[in-house]
Parts: sequence; C-alpha cells; structure tokens
Amino acid sequence: MSDVIRTHGLSKDYTMGEMVVHALREVDITIGAGEFVAIMGPSGSGKSTFMNLIGCLDRPSAGNYILAGQDVSRMSDNQLADVRNKTIGFVFQSYNLLPRTSAIKNVELPLMYAGVKNRVEKAKEALVKVGLQQRMGHKPNELSGGQQQRVAIARAIVNDPVLILGDEPTGNLDTRTTEEILALFQDLNRAGKTIVVVTHEEDVAKHCKRIIRFRDGRVLKDETIEKPTDARDILAGLPPAEDAAIA
Ligand code: ADP
Ligand code: MG
Repeated sequence: MSDVIRTHGLSKDYTMGEMVVHALREVDITIGAGEFVAIMGPSGSGKSTFMNLIGCLDRPSAGNYILAGQDVSRMSDNQLADVRNKTIGFVFQSYNLLPRTSAIKNVELPLMYAGVKNRVEKAKEALVKVGLQQRMGHKPNELSGGQQQRVAIARAIVNDPVLILGDEPTGNLDTRTTEEILALFQDLNRAGKTIVVVTHEEDVAKHCKRIIRFRDGRVLKDETIEKPTDARDILAGLPPAEDAAIA
C-alpha cells in the first residue's frame, strides 16, 4: 500500500478524424512513497499524456491507474477533481499564478477549493517553507522567475499532497535558480514527499533518484540513479547570485 502510483496496461489513444494516435501503449509503472522520479523522452513520446493521466487530469482509454491505493481509472470528472485537490500538487514551467493576486492569496487558493479553515496560517507556513516569508504580499509581476516558482511550489504543497507533479518546473529558469528550485524539491523529497517531474535536461534528471525514459508511448528505460546530484553541492560551487551583493 505504500505505492503512490501503480499503472497497469495504461493506454491512451487520441482520435483525429480517421486517424488514431496511440499516445500511450500499455504502460506498467509503479512508483513508491518517497521516490523522486524524472520522466524523459523525445517530443511526442507520451510524457505529457502520462503526466495528465497520473495527475488525474484525464482518463485512460484502457488499463488501470491506482493512486495511493484508490482506483481512479474510471472516476467521473467531479470525483477526479476531488482526488486531484486532495492528493496532488502541481508545478508548471510557466508557474501559472494568478496575476494581480498576492503570493499569499495564490497559495490560499487550493485551500479555498478544499474548504479548509486557517487558510492564512497554512499559506504562510507553506511560504516560509519555500523561503518567501519576506515576499508574501508581492504580486507575481513583483517577483523574479525563481520567486514565482517558489510561490507555485508553496501552492502545490499547502494541502499536504501525497504526490507532487512538475511539468518542466525549471524549464524557464537560469542555472543558479534551477539548482535552487531543485534543492527545494530535494528537501521536500527528504521530508517524505513523492515527486515526479518531466524534464528535457539530463543534468536536471540526475538530481532525481530514478529516470524513466519514454519512446513511442512506451517505457524505453527505467533506471535507478545510485548517486543523485545534490543541488546544494552545485550551488556551493556557483558564483553568488548577482543581486546577493546588493541585498
Ligand atoms: P510529449 O509530452 O512526450 O511530447 P505527448 O504526450 O504530448 O508527448 O504526445 C504523445 C503523442 O500523442 C504525440 O504523437 C502527440 O501528437 C499526440 N497527442 C497528444 N495530445 C493529443 C491530443 N489532444 N489530440 C491528438 N493527439 C495528441
Ligand atoms: Mg509534452
């Protein structure tokens, strides 16, 4: 039962007129609690389709998906939305924050959907965890890319989800900021969170404990990383951030 993700024969077909695209073909994957997994593969290999399915944003054409012990393969849209809100935190490449809305209000949103009390307190706690206690009242356009991604991560963890999913979460960030965000993911993983991220970059993937490579809708390779890169080691070797001298 400590498996967070278990798929069996997971398949997704898209029909476009006369043509059927087999985006995912009978994928069997098990991801246990506490894993940190990178999903890689060329464009069109099925990564997004896989993430949409395990993120309960879509249903499979065939096969099963057991999320934290619950079969979600045939749930209705409303049931899926409910599972999504309670179980999964999402982090996207483009942050997807509400503009003209403060960091803390952005982080409170999932709590509002879930009808949780003590929202302000919980949102503050999450922002402290990502190191943004000084920026809670700032709007997205008053924050750097890295800071915006921290707000998005705070929003993803505020409901204490079982699973964190990232779709190219460092795709828009420079080298240093990428390592800072990866350090944050590694901290969350050490604290017990299960994390799955899609990335195009080998260097990013090597921070994870496991790399699953897709090709043509199938798993091509599934490898354990014996010694994942520690983001803090890399950060220690980088020159200080440009604005650090001013601050
Ligand atoms: P990746 O994220 O690895 O680039 P995708 O999962 O987006 O791959 O796509 C896998 C395959 O499914 C591709 O051939 C893509 O064109 C097709 N596909 C993805 N989404 C749709 C859709 N909504 N309708 C039709 N075909 C799709
Ligand atoms: Mg994609």
